Amino acid sequence: MLSATPTKRPRKPRKSGGNSQDSLPSRYSSNVRALSMLAFAYVVFAFINERFLHWFLNGDGEAPIWLSHWTEYAIILAFGIWRTLAEKNAYTRKRLGFLTFAVAIFWWAIPDFLRLPEPHMGTLPGQAIFPQIHAPGTLTFFGILLLVLLFGRRIVCGWNCPCVGIRETVGFAFREKTPRSDTAWHWRYTKWFFFALYMIVFVLVMFSGTAYVSPVYSGFLALVGVTYFGSFFIAPLTGNRFYCRFLCPYGATFGLLNHIGFYGIRMDTEACIDCSLCEQVCDMGIPVSRQGQEFGRVTGLEDCMGCGRCIVACPTDALEFRDVRNEFFPKLRMDGSHLLKRAAPPIIKPSKPDPNLQ
Ligand code: SF4
Ligand code: SF4
Ligand code: SF4
Repeated sequence: MLSATPTKRPRKPRKSGGNSQDSLPSRYSSNVRALSMLAFAYVVFAFINERFLHWFLNGDGEAPIWLSHWTEYAIILAFGIWRTLAEKNAYTRKRLGFLTFAVAIFWWAIPDFLRLPEPHMGTLPGQAIFPQIHAPGTLTFFGILLLVLLFGRRIVCGWNCPCVGIRETVGFAFREKTPRSDTAWHWRYTKWFFFALYMIVFVLVMFSGTAYVSPVYSGFLALVGVTYFGSFFIAPLTGNRFYCRFLCPYGATFGLLNHIGFYGIRMDTEACIDCSLCEQVCDMGIPVSRQGQEFGRVTGLEDCMGCGRCIVACPTDALEFRDVRNEFFPKLRMDGSHLLKRAAPPIIKPSKPDPNLQ
């Protein structure tokens, strides 16, 4: 029986220019990687300036766009355009384009220019501003949970979040460093520690009128900030999705809903030719082909951010997305050909051993 652990098949990433990217991770020049690290450092410095240094404040006492938390969104926009134009896979290009657009419009332009206040049910420090999808107690938060339940974690972790935005655009140069060993796969449980802390904060915020001044709340925010920004600097060693895989309490929350809800990735084991491409393109280090061959589906769903790379990389359409739409349209098959809007590939039969040679 196959073990549902990551593949050990070695793959050496091919060298590529920064203007050509595909589903398989590539090896980029030191210039591209240095530029990425500079962008990460700039984002962190801008955040520190807004919180602690207070340099270049404008007349309203606010840090400027180029040296505040808005800086991250501006960097995502710049790298997002570059990254989208460079992407060769049509489905990923569409996803990255939408991701860049969503961060620029929903996370940057609307909150900054329209300043829409959002009603919230818990107690938060200051007024919640759209879109506070990580803040328990806001309407956006519960709306997003519902969407994740119906369509999967990709609603946030694949298509609409600054954290995936910066990791998939600025961080693209480090995808090749993604750890895919058995050890890395077992370490995925660490995120549940952060998830437990998040649940404690959730309760405090919802039921305590003074929760926002509690050391637990402040400590949690500090922990998230340090791990979120700190993980930028270890990307050259750990790949771009280290934070999402091992540290993110929000990703863990969405991952639970991946399991409970309608989302899934199914494998047609008859069609699988065991090429392991699906595992090699997965930045979350999920043993896609082994789990699929053993169970007929991806079982490590809590770790799946729904990028769809495994599905569009599969040469035989053996993998397909599932979500609430399949409940209404049973014949819908969201495989690689469907996502890429191409003709289905010819049926490839696995080669059988020649009996004359036995
Ligand atoms: S796992 Fe966390 S950091 Fe990563 S994309 Fe999802 S919410 Fe963002
Ligand atoms: S990419 Fe497709 S054919 Fe290859 S191992 Fe994965 S599911 Fe099987
Ligand atoms: S299993 Fe597939 S859809 Fe999920 S994160 Fe990995 S490559 Fe993306």
